[in-house]
Amino acid sequence: MKDRTETLLTGFMDDIASHHRGETEFLQAVEEVARDVLTIEKADRHYTQARVLARLAEADRIISFRVTWRDDAGQVQINRGWRVQQSNLLGPYKGGLRWAASVTPSVLKFLAFEQAFKNALTGLPLGAAKGGADFDPTGRSEAEIERFASAFMTELGPHIGPERDVPAGDIGVGAREVGLMSRAWMQQARRWGGALTGKPTALGGSAMRAEATGYGLIYFTEAMLAENDMTLEGQRIALSGRGNVSSHAARKAMRLGAKVITLSGRAGTWHAPDGFTPDALDWVLNAAGEAAQTPPAELNIEFHHDQTPWRFGPDIALPCATQNEVTLDDAKALADSGCMYLAEGANMPLTSQAEAHLSQAGVIQAPGKAANAGGVAVSGLEMQQNAGFASWDAEKVDRRLRRIMCDIHSLLKRERASCCTASGGVDYRRAANVAGYRRLADAMIAGGTM
Ligand code: GLU
Repeated sequence: MKDRTETLLTGFMDDIASHHRGETEFLQAVEEVARDVLTIEKADRHYTQARVLARLAEADRIISFRVTWRDDAGQVQINRGWRVQQSNLLGPYKGGLRWAASVTPSVLKFLAFEQAFKNALTGLPLGAAKGGADFDPTGRSEAEIERFASAFMTELGPHIGPERDVPAGDIGVGAREVGLMSRAWMQQARRWGGALTGKPTALGGSAMRAEATGYGLIYFTEAMLAENDMTLEGQRIALSGRGNVSSHAARKAMRLGAKVITLSGRAGTWHAPDGFTPDALDWVLNAAGEAAQTPPAELNIEFHHDQTPWRFGPDIALPCATQNEVTLDDAKALADSGCMYLAEGANMPLTSQAEAHLSQAGVIQAPGKAANAGGVAVSGLEMQQNAGFASWDAEKVDRRLRRIMCDIHSLLKRERASCCTASGGVDYRRAANVAGYRRLADAMIAGGTM
């Protein structure tokens, strides 16, 4: 059986690789799904004939464009921008925009592919897309960001709209940037409309959108723990990053009684051996530049240069920074120090080797497709509010977010029969791939060959 799966996988991946040469992140993401779903495809005549996975792996289209803008010194700057419109099987194309120096077509293609499965799991009518630019906003002035946002929208604007493609934020793109792009689109289109989500609430954004990914991650983690009659109370949590996802996840986890022991940035890791206090957390989230590396003694935080957060003996690891941040060495450190759970706030934060090691070590893992779906889920709720010219209060949005995360958990549990770990628990990674695949495959079959 294992040999048959490997043969199927090799044949499938050779074909994909021949069309996407050198796109390592994209091939990694496709292989992780293919490993879990190819046997399911093979066992179903309709899925096999429709070549579901091979079709899902190819984006509907990729729009690529130049972004030309002027910096504060008057110099002309040139960046590259893309929008990968992956699939509109389940709803309008939907997914964030990332502005970072590391953005490449391969990175955006992997993110768009993963987004299709994530969005399917939410149960909301959301297709999938991802986009962005190789533009690093760090250190840029407000005026530069505004000029870049406007130039970026000049190119992207004609391809988006509330029923067509609805971008949002991601790394380097927060509510402010979304607000600028949203206004630019409205001016171009000469209409009001929710063509982007994650807008500032003053411009039609949803309550709780900023908190959604981090809170959703914690709600999913709570549901996983509850399977073993555990709660977050007293658990030692290592988080990476200190951006939108990790900051809100940290706050929520602390409010629920967990001890958050790490956060991280480009230069290293902040470690609070007894758990961050709210003051210490605020300090780390707000500290900038070199000064951030020398926390005041009274806060009981240590800064470790060039260290990742995975060597400090957590019970639960929540990687929330970026793709492939957890290496095999990190995975070994986590497993050796007794980490029991890992849930992904970032997209594909584990290398394939790290993932295999943690699975073998019996660490229960929730993939980003499920665990960080809260962000796009509240984007879906923002689309509903905009379409209905309504605005819901934070309590209502939070209740719906929590329900969606619990429903995703229940959906994955229902795949237990074919998706279980060696110890009999739910294999959440496999279950997320299989459940997302089924939703997409059934929509594809219902729509014929197009
Ligand atoms: N960028 C986020 C994600 O990875 C949110 C996307 C959205 O809200 O459309 O899911």
